[in-house]
Parts: sequence; C-alpha cells; structure tokens
Amino acid sequence: MRDRTELTRPAFAGIASYRPDDSGASIDLSDNTNRWGSPPAAIRELQQTNASLARYPNCYSAPLRALLADYIGVDAANIIVGAGSDDVLDAAIRAFGDHGELLSFARPSFQMVPVFARMNGLRVASTSFAANGDIDVDALLVDDPSIAYVCSPNNPTGLPIPRTTLERIVERARGIVLVDEAYAEFAGTSVIDLVARSPRLVVVRTLSKAWGLAGLRVGYGIAQPSLVSEIEKSRGPFTVSAPSERCAAAAVAEDRAWMRARAAAAVESRDRLLDALRARDYAPLDSAANFVLLPLLAARAAAAALRARGIAVRVFESLDMPNPAILGAGGSALRISVGPWPEMHALLEGLDAWRAACA
Ligand code: PMP
Repeated sequence: MRDRTELTRPAFAGIASYRPDDSGASIDLSDNTNRWGSPPAAIRELQQTNASLARYPNCYSAPLRALLADYIGVDAANIIVGAGSDDVLDAAIRAFGDHGELLSFARPSFQMVPVFARMNGLRVASTSFAANGDIDVDALLVDDPSIAYVCSPNNPTGLPIPRTTLERIVERARGIVLVDEAYAEFAGTSVIDLVARSPRLVVVRTLSKAWGLAGLRVGYGIAQPSLVSEIEKSRGPFTVSAPSERCAAAAVAEDRAWMRARAAAAVESRDRLLDALRARDYAPLDSAANFVLLPLLAARAAAAALRARGIAVRVFESLDMPNPAILGAGGSALRISVGPWPEMHALLEGLDAWRAACA
C-alpha cells in the first residue's frame, strides 16, 4: 500500500499522455484515417439528426449493435460497442486482466495497448516478430499471459499475421486472445469466423479507418456473449453518444458499398505507392493495411522536410524487428497513410526534393 502523501498512482508516473502533432498539415498522412472522407449517410445524419440531447443515448448502443452484427454476420449478443476501439481494448484488458497479471504482444505493435495494460495494473511482456512479420507462438505464450494481444494487419509494420499463426495462438493460449483487426477491411482477411468456436477470442474492429468515421469515436468487439457481457461491465453504460450512434448506424446500414469502394481505392493507391518507392530504391515493407512503413535512417529529418511542405507523416525510432530494411535504417522509419494518388504524388515529390537537398 502506498501512503497517503502519494496522491497519484505510481503506475501512471512513467506514462505520458498521447500527444500527436496535430498542428494543421494540409495533407495529414500520420494517423491512417480515411483520406477519401466520410460515408454520405453519416454526414446526412450529422446534419439532420434530431436525437434529443437532453436524454441519455441507448445504454449499450443496441440499434448499432444489431446493424454491426448484420454487417459482420454474427448475433447482436456477439457485439460490444465502445467509444473507438481504444475504448473496447481498454475495457477488455480491464475485464480480463487482474492486477499484476500479464499481457503479452509481439513488438513493435499498436502502442496504446501496453499503455492500457499498465494503467489497468497489468504487467506487459513483448516478444520480437520474425523478419517476415510472423509471430513465434511459443515465445508469445511462454509466461502463460492472461491476455495475448495480436494486431493483424499490424500497426506500424502493415504486415498481416498468417492465419495459421492466429489459429495456433487461439488453440494454445490459456487466457484471452485479443486480435486487433482495425485495418481488416483493407486486408480482406479476418479471424472473426473463429469466434464461434473459441471461448477465449475477442476480435476488435473500428469505424475510424476504412469507414472514415474517426471523429465519431466508434469501435466494436466480436466475441462469445459470455465475454461480451464482461467487457460491457468493464466499459460502463452510455459510452457512445447519441449523435455518434445515429451517424454510425446510418453508415453501417446504407454505406457498405461506399466503404468497400474507398478501401479498394486505398489498396490500389498503396500498391502504386509501394512500387513508386521501390523504383526509387527505398525498401518499404509489404503492407496489407492503408499505410506503408518506410525504414529510413534519417526518418526524423525526412519528416521535417515533408512537414515544411504541409505533409504530415508519423516518425518511428528504435523499432525492434529483425527485418533487414529496419535494421539497416537503425530502427527508424516513416509510417505513411495512403490517400488518393495526388496526395501520394505530393509525398513522393517531397521525398525526392528532400533527397536532392541531402545529396
Ligand atoms: N488499433 C489499432 C491497430 C490502431 O491503429 C488504432 C488507431 N490508430 C486503434 C486500434 C484505435 O482506433 P480507434 O480508437 O479510433 O478505433
């Protein structure tokens, strides 16, 4: 027990607030949101909604759960909705991990997950990815974690985790397996079908990426009802606001074709960007998501040069992965969100200009 002179939790002391550089870039390629905009039905609802702001929203977003269940092909009892998938991940970690228990993951991965784990009193352990992005299942599960977290396609590498590996993790884990499919619509693969036969699998999705609704803050999880009810308790009531629920519901009901077309456009733009970068002798990693990881020794300087042209990308340093391109760049890289080709063209011009200035 800490004594009463210590008002704040020691576990929080080493954790910094997340503060992205959001000082208006004209082309923001830093956060993997949808550069094609938002689905028209959601915009219409936002303008027209007459949701009573004096009333609470639906306690656990029942109407939206039903629509998401239809979209995914499961029952509404299999769905938990939260304020972004951040909220669902945080609530799931709190629901299934007791104080002092272990959450394990392969690094590098989505950086909020170890933060949520530590803030909820868990310990974290990470194992290295293989060079090709596969996970050593024995290493991931070696200390019998209460929660194993896997992101597929993985942020920030963009690499998908092979389905056979995910199946082995689900078969062999003794605790909860959290599979983060924030970018699944771009990859076209999913393990949601395993939920029906696994009492330990929770798949987490979001409306922030392919669906173009990051501003609404709506994410969801898919699991067996016994797990959904635990996450629900942990998450708490009334988390998704009434306007957010209305807009999200309209999009999921009416705009699946809009979403699929934008996801396909992102995949096309991504593959063209990968080709263009390789033609310039860069060594980006393959990607199954709507972003590309570009190992680059001078990542910070390149990002500053792009920023001067109004283009924001995300800088990573000290990435720990035995991939030759990442090792060659000393662990530094740019993560570049994919957008319509004119934005990719501006990015490539910016990189070309930076390189020419360095020469
Ligand atoms: N998971 C992954 C892998 C992500 O990259 C992100 C967003 N960067 C999230 C979850 C959280 O997204 P949101 O809270 O907007 O759903």
